[in-house]
Amino acid sequence: MNVLVLNCGSSSVKFQVIDTDPERIAADEDRCLASGLLERVGSHGLIRFQAEGQEPLISDAPLPDHRAAIDSIIRWIVSGDARIPGIRSLSDIHVVGHRVVHGGERFRGSTLIDTEVLRGIEACVDLAPLHNPANLRGIRAIRDLLGEGVPQVAVFDTAFHATMPETAYLYALPYSLYRRYKLRRYGFHGTSHRYVGYKYRKLIGIEREQVNIISVHLGNGCSACAIKGGHSIATSMGFTPLEGLVMGTRSGDVDPSIIEFLVLKEGMSPAAADNLLNKQSGLLGVSGLTHDMRELLEEVQENQDRRARLAIDLFCYRVRSYIGAYLAQMNGADAVCFTGGIGANSWEVRASICEGLDWIGLEVDDALNRQMVRGAGGEIGKAGSRVRVFALPTDEELLIARDAVRCVRGLPLPI
Ligand code: AMP
Repeated sequence: MNVLVLNCGSSSVKFQVIDTDPERIAADEDRCLASGLLERVGSHGLIRFQAEGQEPLISDAPLPDHRAAIDSIIRWIVSGDARIPGIRSLSDIHVVGHRVVHGGERFRGSTLIDTEVLRGIEACVDLAPLHNPANLRGIRAIRDLLGEGVPQVAVFDTAFHATMPETAYLYALPYSLYRRYKLRRYGFHGTSHRYVGYKYRKLIGIEREQVNIISVHLGNGCSACAIKGGHSIATSMGFTPLEGLVMGTRSGDVDPSIIEFLVLKEGMSPAAADNLLNKQSGLLGVSGLTHDMRELLEEVQENQDRRARLAIDLFCYRVRSYIGAYLAQMNGADAVCFTGGIGANSWEVRASICEGLDWIGLEVDDALNRQMVRGAGGEIGKAGSRVRVFALPTDEELLIARDAVRCVRGLPLPI
């Protein structure tokens, strides 16, 4: 089946076309036929399309809204120019899988989209006011462009964390606020953590119930997830993606009283304080240079920049603290798995995080770690390390495509 996977952000649309079905899933032979990214949706767009085995096509065009962006994707996919194997007309797109950021408490797994589900996603707009409306625009655009006959599936960033116990998801605020607003930890990056759990169990040949790992997603956004018995039992992002680890521009954990302090001292509005924590903090805020880890590492290497070093150290310190906390909550884990642009690629960051964790039996093999800078990923721990260590590139699009097929066929949704 050809699945169009769509990830609609507030001003961008990412997509892949993936050929998969239950047989391909079982054989791990899903095939990505094409991919692309459309940026600056809402104004003059930048467009990048690439079909398997071909050079990327880069162009620009007015993209007034998500519908226009998706229209241009579909036109390209079915155009002769794209030369995507097996796709000649609209009827060759069999199902569309959407990344949907927030599923609230209602959506505990991926689901076929119908009017009820659309209403449910709308009801979560308050919880993700930037993201869910963009996801909804994508779903409606597909309905208009491909018709009601093409099934659509929603895959939620929050769903994997639906198994967290109350103690992990409740904040110690008045319980009435949880009742009134569902104010609680939801967690995000669920599809990525779920993929890491899947990849790990495939690599070492175990069943889902035997997956006891800490998955650490380090990209522009960062989160850690404790996976016990194949289920998420704790994660570091919270009510919003702001909480937890230090990120590219997000602060992660801070004392909430800092907001009132800033409002008083700097005359900031609550919105400006929120912007400061989300957009001007993290690696960017501490270094004063950039949110980009690769650039910070270069800055340290070439210029021994003190603040770049400090930002990286703070970043690693926070990850280590969460690993420690989750090891305690899980009664120990079998492995720590790094993913995301930083986690899958940066041997320096992985080494720094794992330094001093030998007391729990987690030891990185320096040579293996340095080699693991791109590609399929794999184990980077020392042979015999009690807690194994892996670097595994994530693939959220693949899981979205697989879930889309499983939902259409009425199959279970394993990790
Ligand atoms: P993502 O959001 O998953 O695409 O990750 C983006 C982050 O990964 C940025 O901070 C990049 O600088 C970082 N990154 C990507 N490749 C590397 C690398 N080889 N070494 C260090 N950081 C990297």
